[in-house]
Amino acid sequence: MRRALAVASTSPEDVPVGAIILGPDGTELAAAGNERELSGDPTGHAEILAIRRAAARIGEWRLAGCTLVVTLEPCTMCAGALVLARISTLVFGAWEPKTGAVGSLWDVVRDTRLNHRPDVYAGVLEAECATLMRDFFR
Ligand SMILES: [Zn+2]
Repeated sequence: MRRALAVASTSPEDVPVGAIILGPDGTELAAAGNERELSGDPTGHAEILAIRRAAARIGEWRLAGCTLVVTLEPCTMCAGALVLARISTLVFGAWEPKTGAVGSLWDVVRDTRLNHRPDVYAGVLEAECATLMRDFFR
């Protein structure tokens, strides 16, 4: 999570969210910050970019056995993408009551109608992750 916090502020005009993906052996496969403003891409969230980079690195869309660590509770798009990518474990920092899809507004990753449900660890370094967001919006 400290590594995810470190990559959260890659682009100064973007909301500071950082994501990393660890392979089954714990090696870092990808890291990304939110780049929506930087790239003008509505899907340029840190999690999406990290998932794309990790898949490109291993040459396979299935990220089974991998762990996604992100500083903020994923939105519906990112929660959907990590289910599609078959990410095994999701670790996130701060809760996002306005858009969160891992328990706040929706619970996409634990929806039994979907064919994959990752293990979830919420609130890791929550205070630090929340402070990063609060400072940005102040
Ligand atoms: Zn998202």
